[in-house]
Amino acid sequence: METWGCRYQFRIALLGEAAVGKTSLLRRYVAGAPGLETESEPEPTVGVEFYSRALQLTAGPRVKLQLWDTAGQERFRCITRSFYRNVVGVLLVFDVTNRKSFEHIPDWHQEVMSTQGPNKVIFLLVGHKSDLQSTRCVSTQEEEELAASLGMAFVETSAKNNCNVALAFDVLTTGIQQAL
Ligand code: GDP
Ligand code: MG
Repeated sequence: METWGCRYQFRIALLGEAAVGKTSLLRRYVAGAPGLETESEPEPTVGVEFYSRALQLTAGPRVKLQLWDTAGQERFRCITRSFYRNVVGVLLVFDVTNRKSFEHIPDWHQEVMSTQGPNKVIFLLVGHKSDLQSTRCVSTQEEEELAASLGMAFVETSAKNNCNVALAFDVLTTGIQQAL
């Protein structure tokens, strides 16, 4: 696979309940990068899609991100082990207006922990659809507490307003870099 001269390649997965906005978040991130290379490589055989883009880390090397999205099969809880193979970073995404999606986060975390290989996986909790403040039903304090209890940072994002989208990936990739 083309590495665009990048020294590192980070495989990152987005996980969370259906309809929380994972695909929108990813597409916003990949599309909202003027001047950076992107490619889309659907992998229908394994039921996932991935995108690649290069990212210049602040005070660090240029890295190639391989971003994996579940293609709808999160509804059935049948994500294959191959999806998690060699993953070094995971965005655990929930919708701030969907309480259930928040309550399922520990399950997703557990699933990755139980299927991961030798790599240390860096997680970031993502409270998505932050533009919907009037109907939110998960408080930032609850997010903070959950993130702390699982040992990860958290960020609130909106694909609609393009709020903190790049920041979420920057925080995650910086964490991955520091753990190398
Ligand atoms: P996925 O199943 O987790 O991949 O979720 P999708 O990306 O398909 O999005 C599910 C729904 O949420 C769609 O109707 C999106 O338009 C909507 N959505 C995604 N991101 C946002 C956001 O930041 N704000 C709002 N208000 N809606 C969003
Ligand atoms: Mg999707």
